Amino acid sequence: MANYELLKELTQAWGVAGREKNVRAIILRELEGFCDEARVDNIGNIIALKKGRGGEGSKKIMLSAHMDEVGMQVKKIHPDGRLQMCKVGWVWTSALYHDQVVFQNGTVGVVGCADIEGAKNDCGKLYVDIGCTTKEDAEKYVKVGDYCGFVGPWYELANGRISAKSFDDRAGCFMLLEALKRNKGDGPNDVYYVFSVQEEVGCRGSKTAAAQIKPDMGISVDVTPDHFYPCDLEGCNAVGDGISVTLGDPSAMLDEYLVDEMLACCEENHIQYQRGVMDRGGTDASSINLSGEGVRVAGIALVDRYPHSKCSVIAKEDVEAGIELVHCYTHREFVF
Ligand SMILES: [Zn+2]
Repeated sequence: MANYELLKELTQAWGVAGREKNVRAIILRELEGFCDEARVDNIGNIIALKKGRGGEGSKKIMLSAHMDEVGMQVKKIHPDGRLQMCKVGWVWTSALYHDQVVFQNGTVGVVGCADIEGAKNDCGKLYVDIGCTTKEDAEKYVKVGDYCGFVGPWYELANGRISAKSFDDRAGCFMLLEALKRNKGDGPNDVYYVFSVQEEVGCRGSKTAAAQIKPDMGISVDVTPDHFYPCDLEGCNAVGDGISVTLGDPSAMLDEYLVDEMLACCEENHIQYQRGVMDRGGTDASSINLSGEGVRVAGIALVDRYPHSKCSVIAKEDVEAGIELVHCYTHREFVF
């Protein structure tokens, strides 16, 4: 079993898009001793390389899992001390309403809204109550432009399921770290483990990381929504049915050969998997795909129920399958 204390620590770290340093510090600590080189680029991505044994047919594989999470930003402070917000990344208004949020400096607030039905998905109608009744008082704690994220404690549910904030995409970061720790450099490929910034606001980090690495192939390691709960989107992704091999991602066209190889990899190594189609959203595969002269991409996704909320739910068995898939796939020989 993987070290779930580390996943817990990753989920509880504060890291709204563009402000990922707490997450970065944990990952840099964990990388120590496991890779040949690790660096932080100009916009904050971590790029860690574990070299393979090389030789003919060796590929440069870029894996990308994002460190950032969605949140909100203060756009106005009202005379009565209410903070009016806008969203950072895609946030469901209903996922924030009547919940606590925490600012980077530790200030906690509660989210209210005069008209939740009318607000629908407009976070601009949400207010954060930090306990102040005047603008002057509120400004002692929070300024216009400050970011807040979810408060989402870690809970163990029945049947190996876990609930917390930010599995999107700390679970991906975790799967990369665990796979890296198992990589002894005995595969044919050079594997770049990228922990990207700013995915939630347009897959920005993976764009600059791909420009530096110039990979032969890119794999996003992210989450995908569950479709088996009444309030979820429609499709066939199910928590607990294995790691999802991405067959549909609206942001990127996945390479046929790489996808076929990934399905074969699961079959050959007895990795529990599901065929995943996501009809909304996107992943870092999109920017890797269109980098340089074009890069073949594929996706590995963990099915996540209630994503982009303070209490998303995943299954440990899916995480274990995901780690195994990252490991086996990056040790495979690719011919193209
Ligand atoms: Zn994500």
